[in-house]
Amino acid sequence: MATVPESVKEIATYPDGLASRLQDSHGRTITDLRVSITDRCNYKCVYCRTGNVGAQYAELSTADYLRLIRAFVSLGIEKVRLTGGEPLLRRDLTEIVQELAGWRTPAGEKLDLAITTNGHLLESLAQPLKTAGLTRLTVSMDAVDESTFERVTRIPGSYANVLGGIRAAQSAGFSPVKINCVLLRGFNDDQVEAFAHFARRENLVVRFIEFMPLDEDRRWTPEMVVSLREIVARISAILPLAPLAPNTVSETARRYGFSDTPGVGEVGIIAPVTQAFCGACSRIRLTSDGKIRTCLFSNFEHDLHRQMREGASDSDLRQFILRAVEQKEARHHIGEPDFLKPSRSMVHIGG
Ligand code: SAM
Repeated sequence: MATVPESVKEIATYPDGLASRLQDSHGRTITDLRVSITDRCNYKCVYCRTGNVGAQYAELSTADYLRLIRAFVSLGIEKVRLTGGEPLLRRDLTEIVQELAGWRTPAGEKLDLAITTNGHLLESLAQPLKTAGLTRLTVSMDAVDESTFERVTRIPGSYANVLGGIRAAQSAGFSPVKINCVLLRGFNDDQVEAFAHFARRENLVVRFIEFMPLDEDRRWTPEMVVSLREIVARISAILPLAPLAPNTVSETARRYGFSDTPGVGEVGIIAPVTQAFCGACSRIRLTSDGKIRTCLFSNFEHDLHRQMREGASDSDLRQFILRAVEQKEARHHIGEPDFLKPSRSMVHIGG
C-alpha cells in the first residue's frame, strides 16, 4: 500500500472544529483557488501590461505558499490553479506541483491541479510537470498568425516557442490542452475564424475571453470588447457549431463542439463583460504577496500572509480565510456608473 505523506494526514485532521467548507454570504460554495506564485512575467501582452514596468509585488517562499494553500485545502478547496505573473518563471515549480499532487482534500480526493501559462518555457517543462502530477494545462495564445501574435506579446520569437510548448504538452499527455485567447477589437479580432480551424486541426480546446478592464495601461473601453454573441455568429457562419453541456455548475465558458467532427476540437467563450456569471462563481484568489482577493474586481484585499508573519496558527489562518470568504462580493459592476477599476491589474492579481 502507498504510504500517506505527513502533509496529507494533516489536512484531514485539523482539530479546531471549524467548518471544512467555504461558503460566502450569497450562498455560493468556494472550491476553486487561484494562486499567483510570482509577479514576474516574460511577456508584455498589449492587453495586460504597459511593457515599461516589471514586477510590482513580492513573491513568497515555497514553504509559505504551501502552508497557505494547505489552509485553503483544509477548508474545502478542490481545485488549485497556479498562475502569475508567469508561473513557469518560478524555478521550483515542479517541486510545488509534486507536493500539491500528494495532498488529499478532507473528502479524501486528489486535488485538481492546473497551471495557466504563456507557454514560452513550456517545451522543456511540459513532461516534468506531467510527471510531477499536474492535471490540467492552459496556454495563453492570442493569435494563430505569427506576426499578430508577436505584436500582442511584444517578444520576438514568442510564436515558435508557444507552439512548441503546446505540442510538447500534447505529447506529454495533457488532454485536452486548453488555449486562452483575449480578443481586442482592431488588434487581433480577425483571428476568430482562424482559431476555430486551429481548434479542430490541432484537437485543442480554445477559450475566447472577453477583454476586461484589468489592463495596466487602463486602455479598456466597451468598444474594444469582442462579445460572445459576435464570436458565436462569426464561427457559425463558417463551421457547424454544436452546443456542449457545461462541465460543472460553475463552468465559466459557453462550450461548442463541431457537429461534423464530434469529439475533435472545441471552442468556448468566457463572457464576464456581456454575460456575467458571478452568481455561479466558485473562485477565490491568492496574490503573489499572499493577499486574498475574493473577486477579480475587489477593491479590498485580505492580508493572509501578514497574519502568518505575525505568528498566526493554522487554525487562525483558517478562521481568517473563512471570514474573508464571507465577505465575497455578490458580483462585479463592469459597465455600470459605479464601477471602480481595482488597483491591481490582471498580471498582478493572477488570472
Ligand atoms: N502568464 C500567464 C499567462 O499568460 O497565461 C498567467 C497569467 S495571465 C495574467 C492569465 C490570463 O489572464 C491569461 O490567459 C491572459 O490572457 C488573461 N488576461 C490578462 N489580462 C486580461 C484582461 N484585461 N482581460 C481578460 N483576460 C486577461
